Amino acid sequence: MSNPVSRRKFLGHAGAAATLPSWSTLFRGNLQNFDPSSTRPSESPGTPDRIVDMHVHFDEKNPNFISDLLRLSDRLNLTACVLTPFANRKTVLDAAKQHPAQIIPFGFVDLDAPDVVKQVEELHAMGYRGLGEMEFVKKPYNDPSYFPVYELANRYGWIVLFHTGIVLRRKFDEPEDVASGRMRPIYLEEIARRFPKITVLGAHCGNPEYEWAAEIARWNPNVFFDLSGSTLTKMQARLADFQKIFWWSNTEWQSPEWKVKTPDGDTSAFIKIVFGSDNGLDGIAPVIKQYHALFDACGVPEHARKMIMGGTLSRMLGLSDGR
Ligand SMILES: [Zn+2]
Repeated sequence: MSNPVSRRKFLGHAGAAATLPSWSTLFRGNLQNFDPSSTRPSESPGTPDRIVDMHVHFDEKNPNFISDLLRLSDRLNLTACVLTPFANRKTVLDAAKQHPAQIIPFGFVDLDAPDVVKQVEELHAMGYRGLGEMEFVKKPYNDPSYFPVYELANRYGWIVLFHTGIVLRRKFDEPEDVASGRMRPIYLEEIARRFPKITVLGAHCGNPEYEWAAEIARWNPNVFFDLSGSTLTKMQARLADFQKIFWWSNTEWQSPEWKVKTPDGDTSAFIKIVFGSDNGLDGIAPVIKQYHALFDACGVPEHARKMIMGGTLSRMLGLSDGR
């Protein structure tokens, strides 16, 4: 979450649904059958590897956000999952329809909003591909009052991106009802198990509860994490420590999703990570460098690197260059 104050002020503005069934059908992936370790080769061998960024917040303060993003997308060969405040849903949907290889629309909703279920239904009818980033919740993520939203996401087979771990403080001189403890990665385990058709994606790898995040990812095929936020900066002098956290590469202690080996034979634990920047458009390229530094420090195999930087999300989202 890069700019929560400005993003959150848009929450709760419901509007009329615009239904675009043909488009939404075309771009709705089939997550139920997703297998990150299957041995499907690249569908487009000649296509350079595309980066898929799970964590790009729509910036309503930048009137040129879409054109700036498209330019960056061309330069970096990047597809952005754009986390879109409800009030901006039509703007981003229209851009995604025009540029489906570059913009994937995700709906940013407030789980505590009284009309959140209605908002989620509308986003689905419009053709949105998932939800995120969930954050600033009033109760822990596994509170039953949030289940109606998860039930819908489960029915839709959606990806849902949850903030996990430490969260910034927006107000220093007045009370605020915000607590990192409600967004611990351990809560994602229950959501993933109760709602197995949701792909549960935790942002920030639980910072600093990396071990819990990784262990939950290990036993739950539908759980993944991004490494956006301060983690890769904080850990830059000890990136190899991530080998102790994602420790189960090439061991028998793997969840069933690793039983099928990847084309180059790796069963890397790091395949549970996906690329996410959460750093503004200007900050995406530096985060790409940070991910590569992590790969080098941990000796992440080539195939796993490709899956992390775009292959896994391409396959989940049904993009043409999924590999
Ligand atoms: Zn976040």
